[in-house]
Amino acid sequence: MLPTLVLVGRPNVGKSTLFNRLTRSRDALVADLPGLTRDRHYGRGRVGERPYLVVDTGGLEPVAKEGILHEMAKQTRQAVDEADLVLFIVDGRDGLTPQDRIIATQLRKTGRPVMLLVNKAEGMQRSRVTMDFHELGMGEPIPISSAHGDNVAEMIEVALDELPAAAAEVEEKSDHPKLAIVGRPNVGKSTLVNAILGEERVIAFDQPGTTRDSIYIDFERGGKQYTIIDTAGVRRRGKIDEAIEKFSVVKTLQAIEDANVVVLVVDARDQITEQDAHLADFVLQAGRALVLAVNKWDGLDEYKRDTAKRDIERKLHFLSFAKHHFISALNGTGVDALLKSVNQAYAAAMAKLPTPQLTRVLEEAMQKQQPPRSGSFRPKMRYAHQGGSNPPLIIIHGSALEKIPDSYSRYLEKTFCDAFKLQGTPLRIEYKSGK
Ligand code: GDP
Ligand code: GDP
Repeated sequence: MLPTLVLVGRPNVGKSTLFNRLTRSRDALVADLPGLTRDRHYGRGRVGERPYLVVDTGGLEPVAKEGILHEMAKQTRQAVDEADLVLFIVDGRDGLTPQDRIIATQLRKTGRPVMLLVNKAEGMQRSRVTMDFHELGMGEPIPISSAHGDNVAEMIEVALDELPAAAAEVEEKSDHPKLAIVGRPNVGKSTLVNAILGEERVIAFDQPGTTRDSIYIDFERGGKQYTIIDTAGVRRRGKIDEAIEKFSVVKTLQAIEDANVVVLVVDARDQITEQDAHLADFVLQAGRALVLAVNKWDGLDEYKRDTAKRDIERKLHFLSFAKHHFISALNGTGVDALLKSVNQAYAAAMAKLPTPQLTRVLEEAMQKQQPPRSGSFRPKMRYAHQGGSNPPLIIIHGSALEKIPDSYSRYLEKTFCDAFKLQGTPLRIEYKSGK
């Protein structure tokens, strides 16, 4: 599972500065929720090979009973409930404030694990800057400087180490597609989940989860096994809690990480929005196989269909590696074809790529087009082998490979994809230069 760290604290303590530092890789992502005045930020970061999700909740104004501030507090509360660890940030220059105390009390009520970070601690004596904050009763305050980066990497490693889920991460063996059906609210995800499950016998429900968990449903269709990750709780037995938000960005992003194939649903009757593009981008960053479902295709005239197709081509052009399906979840049309592409994308994501074939394709690619010379260097590629699946990772060995430009890597990606017919999955290439 993707561990989720949620940043909480009053305004101006340095949450967004910390957020930027934690997600500074190209993995950074902004997703906005509808109906919020201040965007919440969701980013994917990484320490070594360990990815994590960071949510910046915006400023927490804990007092409002209604209105926008109340809405924000509710959203923050939801994020906190979904957190594996809350990073509670206070300002070491201001010292302890009454607002910090209120937030601490609220956090304690949620029962989520909390790490207390004293920010803006650069150039200050550790014991001095943390002294004030012990009385919050949130464990040992950890001094950091988000702006300068002091102690941030160390802190995040400690944080991840303390999460049981992350520590117990095992490479799981999968022999069938594990599907996440994602999309912004109202595009028809629930309708699609129901259309897919249909009258088929649902083999097993996962144990009833807490509000934080998605439900995993195993099912069979056309003689094939699948697991569907039900983020919306479509098939949750009984109404556990009406107040649970149906749409949860955190759950969605975790489901993407945990799935091996993602079905991204968009609405043909509506424009492609920023949020659609952000979700798509996140799927790519996670390296997941993808099938695009353009839903509500029923009853659209030619003109509207053309407009929708053009809009998708323009705004989601980076999804050209994925199959596009035009479906009606409501009528159940196109669902079987969609699942066929799911199987294909799954096979591509899990493909075994033997070293001799990989190396042969690499050689052919080089014969057609050499990597460009860089100064007096010409990168030299010797052989390739597979370093992982989901997404397929191809490791190329040689010398001066750090000089290979992105454009050439993209050329190689495309060549490998075509040669091994890897439709529906992104592909990663890594270079290892020997001396
Ligand atoms: P947020 O409202 O909690 O998201 O806070 P911001 O990240 O916007 O930061 C508020 C102010 O504190 C900005 O002027 C930042 O430059 C400053 N700031 C953030 N982190 C640090 C830090 O580690 N040291 C110092 N001295 N200033 C910081
Ligand atoms: P979710 O929020 O993404 O789970 O969306 P829902 O499945 O709840 O659907 C939102 C609305 O779109 C509902 O009113 C559905 O009946 C409608 N809807 C879903 N799929 C289709 C479809 O294929 N065609 C049409 N015309 N409406 C649909």
